[in-house]
Amino acid sequence: MSVPLLAQWVGALLPLLAATGAVREGDTLRAEIASAKVSFLDYCGPATFSATVRGNRELVIEVDPRGERGPLHLRVVLPSSAEERWAADVVVVDATGRPLLVRRSGTEWHKLTIRVPPERATYIVRAVQPPGPRLQVFSDRDRQAVEPTTGLKAAIATWHEGRKAALSIRFDDSHPSHLATAIPVLREFGFRGTFMVCPGRAEPNSRWRSDFQEHLAEWKAVARRGDQEFANHTAHHRGASGDEEMEAEIGQAAKAIWDLFPGRSKLLALNLGGGTSWETTKPLRYYLDKYHLFDASSGSLGMDDVYGNRVAAFREHLRRHIERGLWCRIHFHAIGQDSGSSEATFRA
Ligand SMILES: [Zn+2]
Repeated sequence: MSVPLLAQWVGALLPLLAATGAVREGDTLRAEIASAKVSFLDYCGPATFSATVRGNRELVIEVDPRGERGPLHLRVVLPSSAEERWAADVVVVDATGRPLLVRRSGTEWHKLTIRVPPERATYIVRAVQPPGPRLQVFSDRDRQAVEPTTGLKAAIATWHEGRKAALSIRFDDSHPSHLATAIPVLREFGFRGTFMVCPGRAEPNSRWRSDFQEHLAEWKAVARRGDQEFANHTAHHRGASGDEEMEAEIGQAAKAIWDLFPGRSKLLALNLGGGTSWETTKPLRYYLDKYHLFDASSGSLGMDDVYGNRVAAFREHLRRHIERGLWCRIHFHAIGQDSGSSEATFRA
């Protein structure tokens, strides 16, 4: 099939798919928002609330304190189906439309906690329409075309070079063993790892050491060689308690990595870090778009030996992903130390 013909065919199909896709998305979204679970966090007292779905994108929560005098914490757990798709587009506003601070864990962006005063008030959990065009995912049937007169076939491959599935091997927290052990082993097998680094500098009055800054020359050498991939694990792996802090944590890490790869694509994976807590009024999408990131915080299999039987778990995980043609992700922390994964597990 010639290129212009393919372009014509794709051009004709796209608006149709986009139109039907939008309608279907609205209904699904409404149903998903309706299945969100709302509660007061760690609370047994007189206050009550009611929650109703409004339109396709809003959950309206009315709080009635009924004599409660202390602050309340509203907990909203979106269905897990939201996590990979629209949790990054959710904000919470008050009745006047003012965005409120929402606290979330770095690895569970679909679970929201909002601190509210003990007053009768309305809060709106809103799935914002993401700005700009979104990627359209085609069904298997829509990815194939046959040119009727010649019988020529064309298909859009799911994975690079038409492979069955993809595997990403991630290494978190810029641990020195990644330089000493992981990278040499990856090179032995011709693999490219994804290194989630925390490039922030150590700060006065903080016990946090910057493994990345202490081994900066070695990380720079890895970047120059260009056979491994770096990703954003935020500057200091400590979360944030406001928009400015969150922007600094994500932005500093993004800029530090871009500086190591001059002239290369700015697109990086983001992982906000296990055990971190983030407070922001903005949707995660704001940070993702501004710093050319995609969220890779969830959906990965932890390979630390403490989880037990890792090699068998990995084989099963990989087999299931190959069977279904999916993106398989696993992650390590320190390699070959007392904590983390032994070199034997890693090599296996
Ligand atoms: Zn981490």
